[in-house]
Amino acid sequence: MRIILLGPPGAGKGTQAKSMSESLGLVHISSGDLLRDHQNRGTELGVTARDYMKKGLLVPDDLIIDMIEERIKMPDVEFGYILDGFPRTVQQARSLEKALENQGERIDKVANIVVSDQELITRLGGRWICRQCQQPFHEINSPPQIEGQCDTCNGELYQREDDTSEAVVKRIKVFGEQTNPLIEYYSKRGTLVSVDGEGSIEQVRESLIGAVS
Ligand code: AMP
Repeated sequence: MRIILLGPPGAGKGTQAKSMSESLGLVHISSGDLLRDHQNRGTELGVTARDYMKKGLLVPDDLIIDMIEERIKMPDVEFGYILDGFPRTVQQARSLEKALENQGERIDKVANIVVSDQELITRLGGRWICRQCQQPFHEINSPPQIEGQCDTCNGELYQREDDTSEAVVKRIKVFGEQTNPLIEYYSKRGTLVSVDGEGSIEQVRESLIGAVS
């Protein structure tokens, strides 16, 4: 099964993709995590991507497409995957479709997580993430038991460079302009399902599992 999680920054794609991939036995592929890993390793892609990411802009399509196409050819994804954060433009969606077609494969479901802009700004503004296991916390809604430390693995918590209020506003705007057209794109292909992303993590998870099953 090949699933895409679509939704604005802060919709909970990462949290939900992680949990769904464990339940459904699929590999979680996050384009943002892959880019941050490139940054940490200081690769050419990581250095180039950093300038775009810091400003809340999208990394150029050709760079992202190459990175994802390479990832989905790896042997561990043979039973399927959940794409989180990719595609983000119509060009990326077209390239993905073509690459899959060449392998006799296709996307089975695209789940669109719907959250209001105001809720996104609140969520991203107070977000802290574990450096080790990537679990997100929120200063007010879901604070860690010990400040600065992950409840699950004791890893150090940090705030993403692109969670500054300026970058958050930009990322939401970029989503509206460049990623929103994907809703129509996948709707026309009959693979789109939309779920309300404003419930609890468990409620949203259940809706998503129901929607893709
Ligand atoms: P995310 O972790 O999904 O919120 O992504 C963080 C940042 O990485 C985005 O704001 C973009 O700058 C970049 N990025 C991640 N995925 C993509 C993509 N599919 N296309 C372009 N840029 C991306």
